[in-house]
Amino acid sequence: MSLLSDLSERVPGRAHGPGASEYDAGRTVFAGVGEPDAVVRPHTVDEVAAAVGLAAAAGMPIAVRSGGHGLLPVDGGLVVDLAEFTAIEVDATGLVTVGGGAHWGDVAAVLGPHGLGVSSGDTRDVGVGGLALGGGVGWLVREQGLAIDALREVELVTAAGEVLTLSETSHPELFWAVRGGGGNFGVATRFVFQAIPADGLVGGLVRFDRSDVPAVLRAWRDVMRAGPDELNSSLMLLPPFGPEMPGGPQLGVALKGDESRLHELLAPLLALPSVVEVSLAPVAYSELLEDAPPGRPPFLFVGGNGFVPDLSDAALDAVAAAYAREVPTMVLLRALGGAFSRVAPDATAIPHRDAEALLIVNGVLAADASPEQLAAVKAGSDAALAFTSGTYGNFSAEYGPEVTASMYPPATLERLRRIKRQVDPGNVFRRNHNIAPAD
Ligand SMILES: Cc1cc2nc3c(=O)[nH]c(=O)nc-3n(C[C@H](O)[C@H](O)[C@H](O)COP(=O)(O)OP(=O)(O)OC[C@H]3O[C@@H](n4cnc5c(N)ncnc54)[C@H](O)[C@@H]3O)c2cc1C
Repeated sequence: MSLLSDLSERVPGRAHGPGASEYDAGRTVFAGVGEPDAVVRPHTVDEVAAAVGLAAAAGMPIAVRSGGHGLLPVDGGLVVDLAEFTAIEVDATGLVTVGGGAHWGDVAAVLGPHGLGVSSGDTRDVGVGGLALGGGVGWLVREQGLAIDALREVELVTAAGEVLTLSETSHPELFWAVRGGGGNFGVATRFVFQAIPADGLVGGLVRFDRSDVPAVLRAWRDVMRAGPDELNSSLMLLPPFGPEMPGGPQLGVALKGDESRLHELLAPLLALPSVVEVSLAPVAYSELLEDAPPGRPPFLFVGGNGFVPDLSDAALDAVAAAYAREVPTMVLLRALGGAFSRVAPDATAIPHRDAEALLIVNGVLAADASPEQLAAVKAGSDAALAFTSGTYGNFSAEYGPEVTASMYPPATLERLRRIKRQVDPGNVFRRNHNIAPAD
């Protein structure tokens, strides 16, 4: 008997193989299309447990699909597609219960009329499951921390087919692990987050030309260091995309407050001679989220990301140098600090709480670039990444033990590995930034 036929008996009508539209939907993620043995699209938690229990007992690897914006298409094994787990409900205290397959844009749309929001990401289509289990950096990070910092409860189906409710008081070690440990510990079918007031926002864009990038970087750092938690921003350094789009620094910013206060806080940036456009206005939290591009562009992105503990002049100069090189280079700096930094490093599995910013730097090369070109561009990106202290897994399209080791300091990784041994000793949930069970 095959996995598909066994599943069809165990969860009738929910198991899908090649040729079925549910199979195609389940095997497709942002980064590409995989070839799993089967896709199961359960409608209930009991069906998730039955499918997971069956595949795990057979030693089959299990991948989970929530919003499908992951960076790893999978071949072989089972994909559990949570497309039916999209219910979202908010109560009078601002606790919002979200199905494990919902998208963040839908969460924002439900919370908006209540004047609420939950710290999440910047993009509507990204799934609650992958983003929240991996950390979750977005527009409210300085006010509420990461998405995992707003998390109060998770319903998890383990490799043994058990359905557990995790919180600070129920399976607290496992609750700690799923807040940053990704999809390593089971299938999260339901999340409960604490929402916060997110109305009265003003935000938008400030664009600069490329004439003095170091000055923009320094002014941005100083503005964010002096600014309140309610001020959130990211600074992108964009390469030119043809004559119509010359590239340059682009600030995305949001403040809980009014327009004059935002101008006051941004004054050192707005006074720079390289400013070419200021577009700031009242905005709803849900409008701050953007639609994702249709898929991964067909280029090689050579670089990586990391948490930056100190945006020193030397760190900013390295960023400016990486951006100034001949190969088109994209940089993103997301301001952290604020509530993000007030969470104890050992309170969740994301320990890099001293970080001032998250840095992504990538040289963009054609898919047929030579090994020499790749090596040269990697060296340039690495010079900027040398100022970082740990990788943010959700932004890393690379997998393997060395990537996992760069995401967690040794003590955090050991704790995660011990929990993994208890809950998934056969490592069936390994289609991710894998945490191998402790020996
Ligand atoms: C266009 C784009 C924009 C992004 N913007 C941001 C951003 O602003 N902030 C940020 O922090 N990240 C961002 N990310 C990264 C994003 O957080 C990760 O790619 C994340 O894994 C996507 O989650 P998903 O549920 O959409 O993906 P999926 O492909 O469905 O899942 C990815 C992985 O997460 C795990 N997983 C997902 N759901 C579950 C679940 N319910 N139970 C158990 N495991 C699960 C599985 O291991 C799965 O392989 C972005 C990614 C893209 C492509």
